[in-house]
Amino acid sequence: MKIIMLGAPGAGKGTQAKMIAEKYSIPHISTGDIFRSNIKNGTQLGMEAKKYMDQGLLVPDELTVKILLDRVAKEDCAGGYVLDGFPRTIPQAQVLDNALKEIDDKIDFAINVDVPDENIVRRMGGRRACLSCGATYHIEHIPPKKEGVCDACGKELVLRDDDKPETVKNRLDVYHQQTQPLIDFYEKKGILRTVDGTVDMKDVFAAITGILD
Ligand code: ADP
Ligand code: ADP
Ligand code: ZN
Repeated sequence: MKIIMLGAPGAGKGTQAKMIAEKYSIPHISTGDIFRSNIKNGTQLGMEAKKYMDQGLLVPDELTVKILLDRVAKEDCAGGYVLDGFPRTIPQAQVLDNALKEIDDKIDFAINVDVPDENIVRRMGGRRACLSCGATYHIEHIPPKKEGVCDACGKELVLRDDDKPETVKNRLDVYHQQTQPLIDFYEKKGILRTVDGTVDMKDVFAAITGILD
């Protein structure tokens, strides 16, 4: 099964994608996580991507597409995957489509996690991320067992640089301009499914598994 997660920054795509990956035993692929791990390791790609990410802008398609196509070509993706944070532009979606067509394949579902902008700004300030394993928490809604420490790997949790309120505003603008058109794009293909992302994460997940099962 090949799944795309759509939704504003902070809508809960990553949270749900991880649960989907576990339940259906498929890899969770987050382009944001790939960039952040490159930044952490000081790679050329990381340094280039950081310039855009810190401003809440999208990393250019030329950089992003290649990384994603290399990743989905790996062996562990043969049985499917869940994409979180890709595609974010129509050209990215077209490149993915064409690459899949070449191997006689396609995306099964695009799951749109719907959360209004007002909720987003509140959520992002409370998000805490583990830059080591990619786990995310929320100080109120989904707290770690021990404050500031990742349940999964024991490393320190941080407020991402791009989760500060000024940058969140830019990211929402970018989302509305460049990513939201994908909702229409996948609707036309007949594979769009929208779920209410404002409810408890377990209820969001129940709605998603209802679609996928
Ligand atoms: P969130 O989960 O909050 O939406 P991500 O971790 O997906 O954030 O992305 C963080 C940042 O990484 C984005 O603001 C953007 O700069 C960059 N990024 C991630 N995925 C893409 C992509 N597919 N295209 C362009 N930029 C991306
Ligand atoms: P995205 O990947 O779309 O940017 P995340 O999955 O990282 O979003 O979630 C953003 C923040 O909201 C995180 O702090 C996360 O713990 C929290 N969160 C995710 N789902 C819910 C939910 N259903 N209700 C409340 N908070 C949530
Ligand atoms: Zn961790």
